[in-house]
Amino acid sequence: MYDGAFRLPMPSNLSGRQFVQIPGPTNVPERVLRAMARPTIDHRSPEFGRLGIEVLEGLKEVFKTSGKIIIFPSSGTGAWEAALVNTLSPGDHVLMFDIGQFASGWREVALRFGLQVDFVAGDWRRGVDPEIAEAKLSDDREHRIKAVCVVHNETSTGVTSRVGAVREAMNRARHPALLMVDTISSLASIDYRQDEWEVDVTICGSQKGLMLPPGLGFNAISEKALAVSQSARLAKSYWDWQPMLAQNKGGFFPYTPATNLLYGLRESLEMLREEGLDNVFARHKRHGEATRRAVRAWGLEIVCSDPGEYSSSATGIFAPAGYSADELRKVILEQFNMSLGAGLGKLQGKVFRIGHLGDFNDLMLAGTLAGVEMGFDVAGVPHSKGGVAAALEYLTEAAKTSRAEFGFSLITMGWILASFRWAYTLFQVPGAWLGDRIGPRRALTWIVAWWSVFTSLTTAAWSAASMIAIRFVFGVGEAGAFPIATRSLSRWMLPAERGFAQGITHAGSRLGAALTPPLVVFLILRYGWRMPFLIFGAVGLAWAIAWFWYYRDTPDEHSGVNTAERDLIHAATGGPRKGTGVPVPWRRILSSRTLWTLSLMYFCYQYALAVYLDWFPTYLKDFRGFTLKQMGFYASLPLLAGTAADLAGGWLSDLLCRQTGNLTRSRRIVGIAGFLIAAAGILPATMTHDPRTCVAFSCLAFAGLELTVGVSWAIPLDIGGDFAGSTASVMNMCGNVGAAISPALLAYLVKGYGWNVPFFVSSALCLMGAFIYGKIDASKRIFAEYE
Ligand code: PLP
Repeated sequence: MYDGAFRLPMPSNLSGRQFVQIPGPTNVPERVLRAMARPTIDHRSPEFGRLGIEVLEGLKEVFKTSGKIIIFPSSGTGAWEAALVNTLSPGDHVLMFDIGQFASGWREVALRFGLQVDFVAGDWRRGVDPEIAEAKLSDDREHRIKAVCVVHNETSTGVTSRVGAVREAMNRARHPALLMVDTISSLASIDYRQDEWEVDVTICGSQKGLMLPPGLGFNAISEKALAVSQSARLAKSYWDWQPMLAQNKGGFFPYTPATNLLYGLRESLEMLREEGLDNVFARHKRHGEATRRAVRAWGLEIVCSDPGEYSSSATGIFAPAGYSADELRKVILEQFNMSLGAGLGKLQGKVFRIGHLGDFNDLMLAGTLAGVEMGFDVAGVPHSKGGVAAALEYLTEAAKTSRAEFGFSLITMGWILASFRWAYTLFQVPGAWLGDRIGPRRALTWIVAWWSVFTSLTTAAWSAASMIAIRFVFGVGEAGAFPIATRSLSRWMLPAERGFAQGITHAGSRLGAALTPPLVVFLILRYGWRMPFLIFGAVGLAWAIAWFWYYRDTPDEHSGVNTAERDLIHAATGGPRKGTGVPVPWRRILSSRTLWTLSLMYFCYQYALAVYLDWFPTYLKDFRGFTLKQMGFYASLPLLAGTAADLAGGWLSDLLCRQTGNLTRSRRIVGIAGFLIAAAGILPATMTHDPRTCVAFSCLAFAGLELTVGVSWAIPLDIGGDFAGSTASVMNMCGNVGAAISPALLAYLVKGYGWNVPFFVSSALCLMGAFIYGKIDASKRIFAEYE
């Protein structure tokens, strides 16, 4: 009814859907709602038994466990209680961490049951510190602590603790305490692995990542927890695991289950399966990152202070000093019909939270962030403009990336990369033989033309198998390039220039590789994935023509070389010979011990190198969270550092050689130093949480690796003389077995153990490389009589 002529009309937002952007309960998808809108069936009927078994089994995929899972008709708090009363006895000690309101809430439950809680202080801006956990457990020599309780994702702050690292800390301390983890706002939103992290009890609720209404509480239980539960003496009845497990065998419950919620659970498990858990996690990660970009653009502060612990499901944000976060939320609710999460406990009034988990997509996030940005203005909260724009730019970029991708799985990518590398390895020696037979001028012209044609033909690939085949034939072409280049240098370069000359050759190759990612990203985003292959094919053909036109196999044939230069080169390289047509003395070459030692060292180098060349961009994008555009830039930095190191290594070794006259030592010093730098650099690059620090240390590691390469390629010249090309081809072939093994092996390692393990393997191989370098004697010439 109209109640006053002077009242101004208020814009109404009460129609349309309400935005409930609290970090749970989350939006329940239509599919789940419809699945629940059914008559409730008899919970002792065979039909119910089938439903029970189906959901109990289906949940295992989500918790990543093969153990037992229990479903209570309860909230998450009930599942907390169940975990404690089934495993502990009055007076037991438990280790908990004050990382936020929910961690405090769980402690309250423990205290009420008479447990002794060691509550590690925290500032509510970081997660559980594994080192503190390790120290506490190491100090507890009598093993009085019976359980370590961790909230995986602290919903009140938006901080995700590293459960895997906590488990490692417990194992290092060799402590038998149970590990219990609250995954109420992380399960089905953030990667979680019950079995791999040896978690004993996982606690969860239905109302967040599982996209259901509130009403189901979960305990996922390890064998160890089950055994411990036999002697746990805390009082329990409703929460007792034993009658539940007995009934669950047939899919039944000891009391009336939440039947309709279980219909919903069956549907939500199906939805998660359809999307794929990894995709679900990636979606949450993307929304977390987009939200944080908006917050930074607004000039506000994120509660979580450690980028390695940012939450993918909720972001806590400080309101500017002097402004009430609750007032802001009130305005946004009244004006735009959107609920945001409140600051809880000591953060009340200071913090508001955006939930971006569950059944959620890019446009819902865009609407959410728009509501917040408009709310700032309406409530008079000072902020910078552009938060929504920053988030949209990130989301758009992510969308383009996913469209640009060929969509191969990690493993398929591994085999595609490996196919090229195997061809490259197997055809090293035939390629070099060709060079030694017909001379570098014609050989390189053929080779580059061949690989250019097959580079372009990559665009004709229609499937993974055809891609593998085309990349193999491409690799056959590229195989001889470096050995032939080496042979051509042996005709033109003085011994004390060879390290540097080889350095320049490799620097050119790394520079090309450094420029490639940003260029490819630019071309892919503009013209699709085929364009870079066509362009690079054309550039290769142009190079082949230029090479044939300008290069001559010996200084004598080149009109640009004067007599003095010619004499100088002849004096140092053993006189004018064409060098073609002489049979390659393979027996002599293959009986050189130095060559085999060299080859083993080069295997270590090539393995580590291939990890960077083939996988670093993917690693930055998939694991370190860079966008395609950022990836193009950051992936090129280690290669640029490597380019400089290529030049530096060869130059340094030549300088040492000239100053000391000791060839062997001048090669060894640089080689060993390079490998040691690489081995040391890889470790912090892998361990750091900060993506940019990771890139910085990767630059160091890659530079170390590349410091060795000019020197390594100078040694075949030192020992191989006229047959430097063939000598180098043996080294390069053995080395490339390392590069050929690495891409597919890495894919499997990543799939099985995550991204860190392959880098640790590289670091170990670099250490080995350093050791082997100490055994290489560059003064042991194979063909003294030919020179
Ligand atoms: N633990 C965490 C991390 C939570 O986010 C919540 C609720 O949001 C709880 C425990 C308590 O769960 P419930 O409110 O369902 O009892």
